[in-house]
Amino acid sequence: MDSSGHQLHIFVFPYMAHGHMIPTVDLAKLFALRGLKATIITTPLNAPLISKTIRRTKGLGVDIDIRTLKFPSVEAGLPEGCENVDSITSHDNGSFELIFRFNKATTMLQEPLEMLLQECQPDCLVADLLFPWATDAAAKFGIPRLVFKGTCFFSLCTLECIRLYEPQKKVSSDSEPFVLTNVPGEIKLTRKQLPDGLRQDFDTDYSKLMSEIVESELKSFGIVVNSFYEVEPAYVDYYRKVLGRRAWPIGPVSLCNRGIEDKAQRGNEASISENECLKWLDSKKPNSVIYICFGSMVNFNASQLIEIARALEASKQEFIWVVRRDKKNQEDEEDWLPKGFEERMGGTGLIIRGWAPQVLILDHEAIGGFLTHCGWGSVLEAITSGKPMVTWPVFADHFYNEKLVSEVLQIGIGVGVKEWVAVHGEHVKSEAIETAITEVMVSGQAEEMRRRARKLGEMARKAVEEGGSTYSNLNDLVEELRTPRHRP
Ligand code: UDP
Repeated sequence: MDSSGHQLHIFVFPYMAHGHMIPTVDLAKLFALRGLKATIITTPLNAPLISKTIRRTKGLGVDIDIRTLKFPSVEAGLPEGCENVDSITSHDNGSFELIFRFNKATTMLQEPLEMLLQECQPDCLVADLLFPWATDAAAKFGIPRLVFKGTCFFSLCTLECIRLYEPQKKVSSDSEPFVLTNVPGEIKLTRKQLPDGLRQDFDTDYSKLMSEIVESELKSFGIVVNSFYEVEPAYVDYYRKVLGRRAWPIGPVSLCNRGIEDKAQRGNEASISENECLKWLDSKKPNSVIYICFGSMVNFNASQLIEIARALEASKQEFIWVVRRDKKNQEDEEDWLPKGFEERMGGTGLIIRGWAPQVLILDHEAIGGFLTHCGWGSVLEAITSGKPMVTWPVFADHFYNEKLVSEVLQIGIGVGVKEWVAVHGEHVKSEAIETAITEVMVSGQAEEMRRRARKLGEMARKAVEEGGSTYSNLNDLVEELRTPRHRP
């Protein structure tokens, strides 16, 4: 409540993909736990993904609700019922082009959102970075718009450097490294690690969207980032002080999930029960299991999955492997496993077909490393649980996140991917996978990496406690929102 007894009401509008919805729903919970009324905006078919979380949160006596907007799938040339990027990328023919069609469809939500803003008169709109039009929608009602960024400051600085100074244009081939001008730390990238639209000065849908995102951010009240100060202080400072952006690191948001159910039930319904999963993990020694999961969008083909299986067998490490297969192929799913693999592995490996309770797994002491595609949600969850990583970037911000993990934080080793390939990835051979897994799990440097990761995990937990950096950032932000003179 502010001094006049008014309860601040915040609209929280996540992009409809698990990697965006999961942290945004956590953010809504965080605001509600600070006494704000939070309304999550989504579409009818996405509502069930978050209604359980909301029901559990209601038990805490907080004010959190959900409102839906009809999604124009068919009008935008998408299949009926396609309301989440998951339903595009879970098919073998899922493509970036379809994701762009999906993004076009989201722009049609501006008008219905404005009607809802008119009806509910909230005090603030937090909307995903992929909704650049939301800044104008909020402005029509004289309320601040915050941009939610589910990535790290390191990747935000990288993208700004590429946009402002174009160091990628100063090299003569896509594989020649260039240094990120002005960004702390002599960071090198190649054009192959960038999307097509940023490799040259092509006028692509991707580069247009990037420009719209920057423009809308500059006009907005500021950005909230799912990261914490201590994990990347040089990059938080660079973004705020050198680039002059208004930004609040308010993560790791996943830490608002304290109970087993809260940790296990995020996003899709898990394909394994919490009890079964914990029973399996409890039977293993500390740091003995590698957890393998590629997030909610990457979709590897059968030959890539076979390489992973071979690497696991050769590495002799115990594992939990989450495999997300095209639903069409579920009858002949064995085409992605070497013959007799599961029988040979016996109790040393657990394959989860579908969706895993990731945070519950990562938090377990039996997990000694995480083979990840480097989506920021997964990377931050690993850091929070104090786990080192085997890094396997595929597209999006994965390559920047990999740099942060392996070079800046030194808590990861890569499988050696060189090129941005959405959404199926560059092919990686089993030998490279096996080498990286062995290095992270049992090599001479494994213990040192684990020690560094654990320390970061402790810092993450401190950041969210009363008096910690994240705790204070969230307080500052809420205070600013309560002060009418700061509003546009
Ligand atoms: N996730 C999960 N179970 C799975 C796969 C993913 O809980 O089987 C969650 C994971 O914990 C993370 C999110 O989905 O919060 C994935 O986000 P990330 O940014 O890592 O990758 P994206 O899915 O956007 O590529």
